[in-house]
Amino acid sequence: MALIKRLAQIYSGESIRYSYLKSVTLAQWLLESGRGGSDLAKLHYNFGGLKWRPEMAGHATKVRYQAHDGADDYCKFATLEGFIRGYWVFIDRAPYSGWETNVATPEDYIRFIGPIYTPTPGYADKVIALMPEAAKLLAEGAAAVPEPMTGAVDLGTVVLDPGHGGETTIGGSSPNNAISYSGVKEKKLTLDFCLILRDELIKQAKAAKQTINVVLTRTTDKNVGIADRAAFAGANQARLFVCLHFNGDGDRSITGAETFYAAASNGNLNEAQDKAFAGAVHVGLMAGMKAINPGAKDRGLKPDTATGKKVLGVLRDTSLGNVGRPKPCLGAYIEAEFITNKQIDTLLVSGPDAIPNRTKVMAAVAKAIRAYLA
Ligand SMILES: [Zn+2]
Repeated sequence: MALIKRLAQIYSGESIRYSYLKSVTLAQWLLESGRGGSDLAKLHYNFGGLKWRPEMAGHATKVRYQAHDGADDYCKFATLEGFIRGYWVFIDRAPYSGWETNVATPEDYIRFIGPIYTPTPGYADKVIALMPEAAKLLAEGAAAVPEPMTGAVDLGTVVLDPGHGGETTIGGSSPNNAISYSGVKEKKLTLDFCLILRDELIKQAKAAKQTINVVLTRTTDKNVGIADRAAFAGANQARLFVCLHFNGDGDRSITGAETFYAAASNGNLNEAQDKAFAGAVHVGLMAGMKAINPGAKDRGLKPDTATGKKVLGVLRDTSLGNVGRPKPCLGAYIEAEFITNKQIDTLLVSGPDAIPNRTKVMAAVAKAIRAYLA
């Protein structure tokens, strides 16, 4: 269920042309994907059973997939946001012409597109029956309340910070930096990876009879100022704060993962603690990267003085609310890989195993974070 909940959470924050069609379309995706349990959903973020069409270029890539009714070319989406956008592009094509004159109610919509979508009799009724479940998922997605567990050890709060977002620079945070070899923006990947990391932290904690509160600085495509990202961790009394970014370079041969901590010379009051935490995160990150790519390059653990800007404002103690706090929030800043490299793009962004690979890498990072909290 974690995957469909993640999709619902993203969808609840997206703006679409007719927002009241969210529950009927999510209901359709619940049906098509077996509540996110189909391989098409798990491996390719295709929750709609969308077959490949040339008009989908730029929104999806073509993937050969063996469905119950035989092998065919299907759409593969790089992110959940990409699927949502792609679904509406798919509907805006010729076979569905006229759909916008059939949107008085969600039921009208599915009764119009249903018979074009599939010859299955009673399809629209099946979708309509799932609308209450979809509406509940959308409401929960917006709230994202952690499940309580009796007798569990509480690990406290971790704040994850997906880099960038939105369309404009806000408080020193640029909307996007790197663009992958296959054309996917860094901001989309940081959010997807952080949501996977959150779900891995929760899943692993649950298996170990621990509870953990994981909050993201953003769960939609919006930007948040640099100081506000850190202040969000402080306001949530986070024990740990992990920023996630991807690197890019004009030299497409460059690869490797690196992790930064705030240097004492940049005013960090507890450099040794942050360095130890960031180091543990980096060891987990490299273990994950090596698991999917034995040749993965380790660019090392570094102080933020080694970045292009010579300082990472998001790790500042003053913004994190650490001044005078007996147990400061520790921070680490991951530059996971160079997505401008073709091989890395295949591994983490667009290749057939990209989504399982993301999960492997984030599971290793989650393990390192949990070990640090226990
Ligand atoms: Zn970045």
